[in-house]
Amino acid sequence: MTQVENKQAMHDTPFVPIEKIVALCKRRGFVYPNSEIYGGVAGIYDFGPLGVELRNNIRRFWWWSMVQMHDNVVGIEGAIITHPRVWEASGHIENFVDRLVDCKNCKRRFRIDHLPEENVIQNKCPNCGGELMEPRTFNLLMETYLGVVEGERMKTYLRGEACQNIYLDFDNVVKSSRMQIPFGICQIGKAFRNEVTPGNFLFRQREFEQWDLQFFVHSSEMQQWFDYWKEKRFEWYKGLINHKERLHFREHRPDELAHYARQAFDIEYQTILGWQEWEGIHWRQDWDLSRHSEYSGQDLSYVDQNTKERYIPWIVETSGGVDRTFLNLLIDAYEEEPDPSGKEARTVLRLHPTIAPVKVAVLPLQKNKEELVTAAKDIHKKLQRLMVSQYDEVANIGRRYRRQDEIGTPYCVTVDFQTLDDRTVTVRERDQMTQVRISIDELPLYLLERVTWH
Ligand code: ATP
Repeated sequence: MTQVENKQAMHDTPFVPIEKIVALCKRRGFVYPNSEIYGGVAGIYDFGPLGVELRNNIRRFWWWSMVQMHDNVVGIEGAIITHPRVWEASGHIENFVDRLVDCKNCKRRFRIDHLPEENVIQNKCPNCGGELMEPRTFNLLMETYLGVVEGERMKTYLRGEACQNIYLDFDNVVKSSRMQIPFGICQIGKAFRNEVTPGNFLFRQREFEQWDLQFFVHSSEMQQWFDYWKEKRFEWYKGLINHKERLHFREHRPDELAHYARQAFDIEYQTILGWQEWEGIHWRQDWDLSRHSEYSGQDLSYVDQNTKERYIPWIVETSGGVDRTFLNLLIDAYEEEPDPSGKEARTVLRLHPTIAPVKVAVLPLQKNKEELVTAAKDIHKKLQRLMVSQYDEVANIGRRYRRQDEIGTPYCVTVDFQTLDDRTVTVRERDQMTQVRISIDELPLYLLERVTWH
């Protein structure tokens, strides 16, 4: 295959290989392997300068749409470490387990619930066809110890899911915030799992971040609110992606449902890994608050101010991951376009402007012309107060555009000789590569309108 054919083939590949995303993330400072100089730790990552901007934008956008835009939703931020009894009440100590099998031949390890049915029945490795060993059971909770005196230290756990804090703080929120049912509590926070098969980059990690909404309702309104949040969350993801056809609901089969759940849906996104869960919409009924009432001995029931009815609220949960969103949005946005001039392919991240880590790059046409540099730096300083702006004067203008395309910067502002005459600049848009000429005074509003969600 010639180099040009190869580039064409890459462009036609419907799903981006994860390796390309991993390489881009490392090269451009989105994600680094944790403790890399010591050989790394499987399933744990650090986020670099662009990665932290992207994560913050993702988090902020979720918080804005879930908390700020809903009068009946508030937020909390709970601690990572809780009382160990929490994990008894939640069922994690007993049930938070993965059943694993190892292949005797190729030594690969699989989660039984991820194996094709015929491999389970035939006890056969899906990788090499070898015989599988006896299944073993692992608990996923990460243990830690509180206290310093040996023998008196209390064993507890790093939270295996972030949402437990919301149940623990439910009563405090009711008493301190005047929220009345139906209402929701949101939280974004780290969770830790000793995943036995971490992998596929950020998809399955040992330390990751979840976002949860727990929406508390009267049982008579459960179905209505379940349907409401199910649709809301689907539309939220759909609004952020380019490949809308790669998003769907998967309804859980009856044998997958928890005993208290009437329904459950996963919002799934299709990548080279197949259809995979992005967020779960769960019918939790009164399970969580009842269990914490029972294990703590505290009454977590709610009294309706109007009817005086006392009841344990039912819960609609929407639970997703910051990291899976980070990964899926990069996969969704990544594109390699063949260059019509036959030179290098253009790599472009077609990220939604609201999410893009850098909103605008300001580029003087030439770096050796002081007037251009001064004007460009001046524009950059003004824009920087409003959004993440980068000043770049290194290399020719085409290369600088490419550099910004690769990190998803939606707009590049070029300062040229005409700028010095009439105070106008060229604004180049990332996706269509169209250029418009506008006045410096209009620039902030022009950009703000385009990078703000509305
Ligand atoms: P899976 O079946 O993929 O293990 P789960 O059903 O255990 O996921 P939940 O416990 O419902 O996942 O967690 C809610 C969300 O948290 C998931 O939809 C996913 O976005 C995210 N998540 C869960 N586990 C991980 C992980 N190990 N690494 C990164 N994100 C995760």
